[in-house]
Amino acid sequence: MDIVTAAMIIPGGALLGIIILAFVHYHLQNNSVPYINFRHAKFFARKYVSDRPLHRYFQSMGIATPLYLIVLLTILAINVTVLAISKGQAVLIKRSGETVLINLILLLVCGRPNVFSEHVQVSQQFKNFTHKWIGIVATAECVVHLTAALSPIRPGTRPFTSAPGIAGLTAAISIAVLGVFSLPFVRRHAYELFLNTHIALTVIVIVAIFLHLIPFDFSQPSITLLIIAGSLFALLIAARIGISLWNRAEVRILEENGLLKANIKLERPRQVCAGQYIFLRVPSTSTLSINESHPFFIASWDHDKGNETKAKNVTALIQRREGFTRLLREQPQAMTAFIEGPYGESLLADDYGNVILFASGIGVAAHLGCIKQLLNARDQGPTRTQVISLLWEVDKEEPWEAAIKMVHELLAQDADRCKRETPDWTNANDRFVFKYTIFVRDHGPEISSDSKRGRQHWKSGALNAATVLGQELAKVGLEGQRRTRTLISVCANREMTDVIRLAYAETLEVERARREEVVLHTYDFHPDAADLPTEVHVPTV
Ligand SMILES: Cc1cc2nc3c(=O)[nH]c(=O)nc-3n(C[C@H](O)[C@H](O)[C@H](O)COP(=O)(O)OP(=O)(O)OC[C@H]3O[C@@H](n4cnc5c(N)ncnc54)[C@H](O)[C@@H]3O)c2cc1C
Repeated sequence: MDIVTAAMIIPGGALLGIIILAFVHYHLQNNSVPYINFRHAKFFARKYVSDRPLHRYFQSMGIATPLYLIVLLTILAINVTVLAISKGQAVLIKRSGETVLINLILLLVCGRPNVFSEHVQVSQQFKNFTHKWIGIVATAECVVHLTAALSPIRPGTRPFTSAPGIAGLTAAISIAVLGVFSLPFVRRHAYELFLNTHIALTVIVIVAIFLHLIPFDFSQPSITLLIIAGSLFALLIAARIGISLWNRAEVRILEENGLLKANIKLERPRQVCAGQYIFLRVPSTSTLSINESHPFFIASWDHDKGNETKAKNVTALIQRREGFTRLLREQPQAMTAFIEGPYGESLLADDYGNVILFASGIGVAAHLGCIKQLLNARDQGPTRTQVISLLWEVDKEEPWEAAIKMVHELLAQDADRCKRETPDWTNANDRFVFKYTIFVRDHGPEISSDSKRGRQHWKSGALNAATVLGQELAKVGLEGQRRTRTLISVCANREMTDVIRLAYAETLEVERARREEVVLHTYDFHPDAADLPTEVHVPTV
């Protein structure tokens, strides 16, 4: 095998490796690893590879667990090896250019959620992580390519006079600008700028590389790779526009104390799973909003009358921010909207006996759909679900009244089922499945420090996630559900998510002795934190 063939095969192997690792990661998270039926093997893999949180320093770089670190080291090792085995400057120039193109294809595949990547069962968090690091590696390779190409040029001569030279420089500058506009600061404060420059600069990079490669030599791998990248990009953009136009909808906005409820009537019913989200585009909000689509969890849905597997009406809860969401207003008439999705991994929560859901602020929207799906299944007959416990922290009660009402509708659904199953209410308490505890940080005088209203508990003060998780797991043990699996799902601010990850790692130490299996799932959306105590003590769970 010659060196160029090897250079082509190795990145292909890397892609395959990443897909396999990501696949294993997804199934470990969902506790559904096919073919591995040994409980200890699964336990070992979760404890040491997929679920053990790394040091804070790694976490701040997005490297959440050893599995993420393995993927990162694999990406680095393969790319460095391909460049390091290049003998001579000409080979290095050629190979660094080709690896940039291979990485460009990978970047397109694992970028924003799309119809193709949704079929690879990998969490979006994992795809975002891979996208980020492949982007960094591709930028570094671009620097290597440029440096290697410029180094033989003698001082006094002008390097960028030919059209391919200028095109190459344009591509390199565009990649650098793209990197700057992708910094977290820009994404946080000017998301639309980040997104639009990302798309525009990708077009410029692809066109500039085409011009850089003139005259085309179709025997070279670079031109084939570029055609693949260009076609893939065009296909993804066309698919996104096509899907949005195909999935037209009518949206009616209701507002309650600042929280928006978007009731979306889909023209074409869609299959919806708990924990999924849609991208919502409402062109009438402003002149530029045709270009904006924003992700929102599906908090609730009604099945289509003609087709019980598909949803016709979906509801999203929307918290006002500074851009698109600030412009959404309650209006008497429905507005035309375009929907992309639903996207996102399905939680498979019905495989678990105990489901513990942590949320902060608008993170509750991710869980409402999950609770609804579990209660709907329970309405149809016996299921594995024995306990659904929602633990939700809010800053104040008033702004969340619309969401609290939705939670109460779910409590009522659970109570109705109990009534149907036990008309005389004997042992009715044992039959309830769903309960919630709300932690109000800035509570008024009307809430005592711990007030109980049936299956709702109202507490004043912040949610101490580690302690509460310990208590919930202990309750699960005491209430006799020890031999069923437990799912902990978190859609909360970063601080709370980190505390739960650490506390969960401690449960892995004792899991084998105490419980059947406890699985952690975290969403990639972290609602902004309220002012949390800076020091968080993590007691043993
Ligand atoms: C998977 C997912 C599910 C979400 N579900 C909900 C939900 O159910 N309810 C809810 O209120 N919010 C949800 N959000 C957050 C919501 O998408 C943003 O609050 C919204 O896009 C802000 O729009 P804006 O123009 O008003 O924001 P801005 O005020 O411009 O920005 C506020 C924040 O939102 C982020 N943001 C802005 N636009 C986008 C975008 N297109 N995609 C991702 N992040 C963006 C910015 O980085 C910034 O941190 C979800 C986010 C994600 C990633």
